[in-house]
Amino acid sequence: MTILIFTGAGISAPSGIPTFRDENGLWENHNIDDIANYLTWRQNFQNVHDFYNQRRQIIKTKSPNSAHHVIKSIQNEFENVIVYTQNIDDLFEKAGVTTIHLHGSINEMKCVACGNIWEFYDNFDAGYDTCPKCGSKKGVKPNVVFFHENAPNYPSFYKNIIKLTEDDIFIVIGTSGVVIDVDALTFDNKAYKILINLKDEETINKNYFHEYIFGDAVETMPYLLEKLRKLKNV
Ligand code: NAD
Ligand code: ZN
Repeated sequence: MTILIFTGAGISAPSGIPTFRDENGLWENHNIDDIANYLTWRQNFQNVHDFYNQRRQIIKTKSPNSAHHVIKSIQNEFENVIVYTQNIDDLFEKAGVTTIHLHGSINEMKCVACGNIWEFYDNFDAGYDTCPKCGSKKGVKPNVVFFHENAPNYPSFYKNIIKLTEDDIFIVIGTSGVVIDVDALTFDNKAYKILINLKDEETINKNYFHEYIFGDAVETMPYLLEKLRKLKNV
């Protein structure tokens, strides 16, 4: 039996990291094409690095919240718990959760000239710094998946979703379903499906789920642990 958990920016919101569409969010004040478009990022090289440098420094100061810790408990208590996140922050890692990042990580850089990926926690100096492997300057970008960029972990994600059966559990937490279409993940999915989101989003069909809980993830996640214990007769 597999428990597949899929999370988005909502789980990090209680830790003080704004969601994608948050009114006060960092994203709100930026044009996506300036900072997250693979087709144009080289033209906006300085802006791109300024933006992700800023986010990297903010995220460094943030800590996981109890929703991240509940997922850690689920991974400790049950077997075959696979966690996929759209988040680029490192709050799951800070909570000790093993997670697969669908949209990359703020703490990695990638060189598109040679394919090198390396851990990076500082500020990238767009006028000076280079790829440590091949020396490319203009090929270095944050290892965050931009719009129109290949997302290397999508194939394993969709394969794992397709494999789910009636014996499995699929949990969606804190995503608007705008970037990754949640309806497409649930429509044909035979698993027992649970949705946890701050509110009922018109972009997600809640009727494809067996259960939905609307509220702050920090408040609702303890219920999830109880529910899983019941479903698995622990
Ligand atoms: P989104 O901003 O589109 O949606 C967030 C969802 O979380 C919304 O449905 C909202 O109602 C819900 N939410 C907000 N606060 C919540 C809370 N306290 N408890 C439960 N739910 C809550 O986010 P998305 O669907 O993940 O898509 C955003 C894209 O932007 C992703 O591709 C991601 O890579 C990127 N992003 C990442 C971060 C991060 O790493 N923390 C933050 C912003 C954006
Ligand atoms: Zn390189």
